[in-house]
Amino acid sequence: MMSDESYSPGSDLSSNDHQDNLQYSATKKYSRKVSQFKHKLRCSSEADVISMPRNRSYSASDSQDTGRIRYRSRSESKLTSTLTRVKQLQRIEKTAQIIDVEHFQKQLNTAHVCSGARLKFIPDTSAAVGLFHQNSFECSKCHKRTDASNFPPKNPIRSTVQEPNARLYAASAATGIGYEGISTLMASLCLSITTKKHFIQQTHTIHSNLHEFAQKQFQLLINNIRQSANIHDIDSVLNVYVSIDGTWKRRGHISNYGIVFLIHVETGYCIDYEVLSLRCETCDVKKSQLTAKQIESWFKSHKLSCSKNYDGTSKGMEAEGASRIFRRSLSKSLRYKWLVCDGDSSAYDRVKNIYIEQETADEDNTDDDPAQHDNELNTGFQEMISGVTLTAHDRKKMKTDGTIGTTGKSQQPKEAGRVRKTLVDGKPFGGSVGRMTDATMHKMSEMYGLAIRQGADEGQDLGEDEDEIVDRLQKKCLAAFHHLIVHENKEDQHYYCPDGALSWCSYKRDQVINKNEDEIKNKYRLDPVFLELLQKMINDLTSKELLSRCVRGLTQNSNESLNSVVWSILSKSKYHGFSSIQGAAAAASVYFNGGRSSLLEFFQQSGIEINEDLYLNLMAKDEKRIKKAEQIVEQRQILIANKSRQRLQSMQAANDTSEYGSGSFHD
Ligand SMILES: [Zn+2]
Ligand SMILES: [Zn+2]
Ligand SMILES: [Zn+2]
Repeated sequence: MMSDESYSPGSDLSSNDHQDNLQYSATKKYSRKVSQFKHKLRCSSEADVISMPRNRSYSASDSQDTGRIRYRSRSESKLTSTLTRVKQLQRIEKTAQIIDVEHFQKQLNTAHVCSGARLKFIPDTSAAVGLFHQNSFECSKCHKRTDASNFPPKNPIRSTVQEPNARLYAASAATGIGYEGISTLMASLCLSITTKKHFIQQTHTIHSNLHEFAQKQFQLLINNIRQSANIHDIDSVLNVYVSIDGTWKRRGHISNYGIVFLIHVETGYCIDYEVLSLRCETCDVKKSQLTAKQIESWFKSHKLSCSKNYDGTSKGMEAEGASRIFRRSLSKSLRYKWLVCDGDSSAYDRVKNIYIEQETADEDNTDDDPAQHDNELNTGFQEMISGVTLTAHDRKKMKTDGTIGTTGKSQQPKEAGRVRKTLVDGKPFGGSVGRMTDATMHKMSEMYGLAIRQGADEGQDLGEDEDEIVDRLQKKCLAAFHHLIVHENKEDQHYYCPDGALSWCSYKRDQVINKNEDEIKNKYRLDPVFLELLQKMINDLTSKELLSRCVRGLTQNSNESLNSVVWSILSKSKYHGFSSIQGAAAAASVYFNGGRSSLLEFFQQSGIEINEDLYLNLMAKDEKRIKKAEQIVEQRQILIANKSRQRLQSMQAANDTSEYGSGSFHD
């Protein structure tokens, strides 16, 4: 499954760093190690003192030889004495091999040996390929040799990734521990691995396999989502609630890349992601080597594999990623109709018209009348819903801010197509006071967004369960809409508005002091004709279904968030190319959806047999995660119980005082 076609036999591409063959003498090995160390030292000291002249020499002996004044880097000064001491340390010749015990036993049991003779073990009869070693057993009498590799060989040996190496690459890709970490770990165990270049090539292959694996998993999840919605016809599109999670880029210092995840709110599964890259590592290298003209001709062949897939600011990545994900949703037979945002409106602004654009484009192709989408009312609603977003000021104020918006035109009232310039009361839709103006739209959408965010905050603070929070939200949202539309009966208009002297509703405030609300207030609200016109939209935007998805969208991911998994993978390695970031995104979504044990399926599909230790290791990680989640739920239950007891007590206390108060009044 994993093979490296570019590998050419005879090159040392896949041979080990320090153990090319048996003849490799200890002294050679030593000098090579020292020269490598010197090289590393040079690189790091260059980074330390950038103001030094480029042609400085670092070697103490060099400077003595030439007699010229040399600058010493600070790192060199610091390390020299240690280096001198360490060079005196006694080193031993020790190599190790990992052995597949069963396989080795079988070879030993069937090896040729003349009667009365012994078997001699000859290690590394040809150059080791990473962790894979070819050895021999030799009969002491007739010198006949029997092959004895440390793992079952896969042929052709040099161009196939051998089992121990495949396991190592897969583990590296899955955990994020890169070459630097792994090579030190292995060297400490007297094990030598392949060259860095080969290692990185192979982990790249795993990253793209992981990406494919994740995509297949998404498709299965989408099939399940569609099936549980009873949609079996391939051509029919299912409307779903989604949220996007694209905050990873703000966590780390890597702003050249960004990942946007799409989460299906109902199930909490991640069903798509997009990795955006502002740069391409191959291009960066070539740019330093070639002239502008050479690059131009080179790029033609590179274009398809270039990993720079985004040209913009790193701030705009989330919106662009969301836009790409939305654009391909219809090809997955899904329409991301409702988007629950975490307060950043830029992504919503980018996707809100995508389905209209796509449908308009389709209709253009079939010679339909595109003017239908062009009416004032339609645009009006679109803008209004899009206004349901957070301002920067709000975001600072809120603890858990969030908002919901619809994408596409299906949310619009059916009448939208019919109504053109005037409404049933003979006046136009927009323009003057009492009609739908930009200011009214803005106010209405802002109040709606605020109602959701504040309601969700209050509900959580009070330890309410989902149903209670949804009731709270619904009341607040209905208040926001009805308050702003003039009703025949003022009691109806402010039915949902909060009572009391501290209410935001002036009608209710005035009620407290037995005053009538100033008539001028209603002048700046929408004319009664809008009540019927907006009824469907109000019903849709305040439906319990929508609000409960909204609450779920705002409160999920607190457990093991995708971005924290991505970060935990990437933080273990210094090397972050496009491939490793896409691999981390794939791994994170796979873990997020199915736990660490999903990796077992990936390993198996990659031709790696599942061993008991690996199985137990990954299962234990998932059990830990489930336990942690259970604890969080438990703590939350306790909190809810405590809060409701407190509420009950304070209500009783209030009752007691009022009874006591009324009693004393009568006395
Ligand atoms: Zn023999
Ligand atoms: Zn490129
Ligand atoms: Zn009111």
